[in-house]
Amino acid sequence: MKKIILTGDRPTGHLHLGHLVGSLNRRIELQNAGGYDEYYIMIADAQALTDNFGNVAKVRENVLQVMLDYLAVGLDPNKVTFFIQSEVSELTEFTFYYMNLVTLSRLQRNPTVKEELKSKDFNGAIPMGFLTYPVSQTADITAFNATIIPVGEDQLPMIEQAREIVRSFNNMYGETLVEPKAVLPENKNSFRLVGTDGKAKMSKSLGNCIFLSDEPDEIKQKVFSMYTDPNHIHVEDSGKVEGNTVFTYLDVFSRPEHFEKYLPEYKNLEELKAHYTRGGLGDMKIKKFLNSILQDLLAPIREKRKELEKDPDAIFEILKRGTIKARKVAQKNLLKLKTNMGINYFN
Ligand code: ATP
Ligand code: MG
Repeated sequence: MKKIILTGDRPTGHLHLGHLVGSLNRRIELQNAGGYDEYYIMIADAQALTDNFGNVAKVRENVLQVMLDYLAVGLDPNKVTFFIQSEVSELTEFTFYYMNLVTLSRLQRNPTVKEELKSKDFNGAIPMGFLTYPVSQTADITAFNATIIPVGEDQLPMIEQAREIVRSFNNMYGETLVEPKAVLPENKNSFRLVGTDGKAKMSKSLGNCIFLSDEPDEIKQKVFSMYTDPNHIHVEDSGKVEGNTVFTYLDVFSRPEHFEKYLPEYKNLEELKAHYTRGGLGDMKIKKFLNSILQDLLAPIREKRKELEKDPDAIFEILKRGTIKARKVAQKNLLKLKTNMGINYFN
């Protein structure tokens, strides 16, 4: 079986730390390891419109921003095909046929959709486009016969939905599509990075993000306003590390070399946690530490991004090239799909 990697992001804002640890790091690892047949990254503008239909300008503007973030973290257009979803119109055709293989109740049961509906302002009037976006996501994946999907945990129900559609399709029309597999981050704490507000997920739509493009003072301000343990009032009080946002981030981002550089009096995170739990360690100290770590992590990304920003035409050229290439593949696979369904009339 071919190894075809595909993943993507909604252009609803700049990319953030959740994207980095939830998916981008894995993408870079896969890219650098090589050994794959094809590698696609899609900017899901059509999907973004399903809950931003009144704000096309926001989606449009963020296509460039997301591309800048990709290139700034080290994704390489010589190794990855980048494309814009809405420019590959075959994807809507795939979606149209797959709609017949999914029931309304199945879509309403999708846990991620359910969770997202809670945070959106649809006033009970759920757009069909939004409810059916898992079907369109199946189209995005299968149009390229993608087998490996590097994503954060919130995407697991989407991949499961895709696998179900693939099985239904193959049962009905004969072996045509391949079942994709999700690849999650290595570190469990990165499956779903919490927001700076401690809420379940850092998400562009929730306004609780540290962006890859944030300036040093923004990073600092966000780290210093994080919740810790509300009962840890005096330095000498014993503090809780579970559910403490600063420690959750340290679990994800701190490495032994950070301790050597910034907190040599502790060997590792376990020792720091033990001191906090025992009492005698102030919130200021752990926030300063986290801030230093994040500043080190984000400075090179921000610098590279600023370089890339100077030439937006070059970025759109990459997207155009990739989109033309992706479209050809989708066209070929759509023809095969329709042939197997028995609706290829003129070939
Ligand atoms: P939106 O609020 O518009 O949905 P988002 O911040 O959730 O934006 P997406 O574009 O929906 O970002 O997600 C793109 C990819 O990044 C997905 O694979 C998703 O699982 C991953 N991802 C997003 N946020 C996080 C997070 N906080 N932790 C881990 N992975 C994440
Ligand atoms: Mg999302």
